[in-house]
Amino acid sequence: MTASPASVPLARPRRLSILGATGSIGQSTEAVILGAQGVFETVAVAGGRDAAALARVARSLGAKFAAIAEPSAYGALKGELAGTGIKVGAGPEALKEAACMEADLVIGAIAGAAGVVPTYAAVEAGRDVALANKECLVCAGEPFMRKAREKGVRILPMDSEHNAIFQALGGENPKRIEKMWLTASGGPFRSWSAERIAAATPEQALAHPNWAMGPKVTVDSASLMNKGLELIEALHIFGVEAHKLDVLVHPQSIVHGLVSFADGAVTAGMAVPDMKVPIAHCLGWPDRVPTAARRLDLAEIGSLTFEKPDFERFPALRVAMDALAAGGAMPTILNAANEVMVAAFLDRKITFNDIARNVEAVCEEFEKEGAARTPPDVESALAVDHIVRERSRARLAGLGR
Ligand code: NAD
Ligand code: MG
Repeated sequence: MTASPASVPLARPRRLSILGATGSIGQSTEAVILGAQGVFETVAVAGGRDAAALARVARSLGAKFAAIAEPSAYGALKGELAGTGIKVGAGPEALKEAACMEADLVIGAIAGAAGVVPTYAAVEAGRDVALANKECLVCAGEPFMRKAREKGVRILPMDSEHNAIFQALGGENPKRIEKMWLTASGGPFRSWSAERIAAATPEQALAHPNWAMGPKVTVDSASLMNKGLELIEALHIFGVEAHKLDVLVHPQSIVHGLVSFADGAVTAGMAVPDMKVPIAHCLGWPDRVPTAARRLDLAEIGSLTFEKPDFERFPALRVAMDALAAGGAMPTILNAANEVMVAAFLDRKITFNDIARNVEAVCEEFEKEGAARTPPDVESALAVDHIVRERSRARLAGLGR
């Protein structure tokens, strides 16, 4: 967490720019904003390629500007928003414009490394960021956080585990932290045999028991790669050493993150599994805004259980933890290879087990070549990301996929 003066109090509407407004996080953010009438003002919304969905959210939130990443969608977006007075833009520059608009908080909710450039632009422009886009930190964590410190920008963690830890930390001295645990629900395959997991289809991987999310993060949650990416995210957000970070499988998804301190005390962040809760925390921070999220009823739930992750059945977590321990460019390589392999799995080109197998093989290939230097800046991280994607696709082509 970077030190900066307390954010703007909620005396006047807090101005928001939402990157990834049409996605799952975007929709939950919209619900929080609409549920807190008069508290927020949406200056910009940005999305990938769905003009109708972007126009809908732009109108619903009364945004001043709507930016779509896909240049060919400009006409469709302009048509959808004709007569509304909402300004329209398309392509990478329009996305950057949305990220840099005069706002008190930018919501980073684009999926994947596609979020790096616009989210980083927001940081460079000195905007505080509520970050859901974990791939941003896995791909370019070091230079991203360095720029945030340089600019006095606050990065508020929107990912539920990190948000829970942020709340559990309070104002504690970071030096007294002994350990941090991120919990994982275990996903849809938690109790499946290795053989069954090997034959899992995209439909089965997309059927998450506790969370409704976008497709990429849902597949990552089924393989537990998501938890590995989140450990790397935690390293950058909280500035703790890799060896202090750990994972606990907790099928009920009520306790999202825990911190233990030098005296043996443990604090934890809890809530029902609903992204509106961490989103509202980021949007309202340091105040609180009400949400319609279901209230936690522990007596009704009865028992909370915890177990160690099984690295045999979920090798993706081990591969990610290896990349975390190796540091350097390994997290960047891991992230890019994983994005390519998850897309190939969703396209039914490879099996579920092939995701971790191929990601590990790509990481090993780059390790042998000694390509492990930490990318010094975001451009270098994106250059590594690009090479790894090409190599990963070539690998799939070599496998006849
Ligand atoms: P999603 O797939 O539902 O939505 C992704 C958003 O990004 C959409 O608005 C889409 O239009 C936009 N987008 C995609 N490609 C783009 C591009 N090239 N340029 C610009 N915009 C692009 O994903 P999501 O579930 O909302 O997740 C978003 C991010 O938040 C991910 O990094 C994910 O890991 C993280 N996250 C999600 C959840 C959740 O509950 N959904 C929880 C924690 C963290
Ligand atoms: Mg999470």
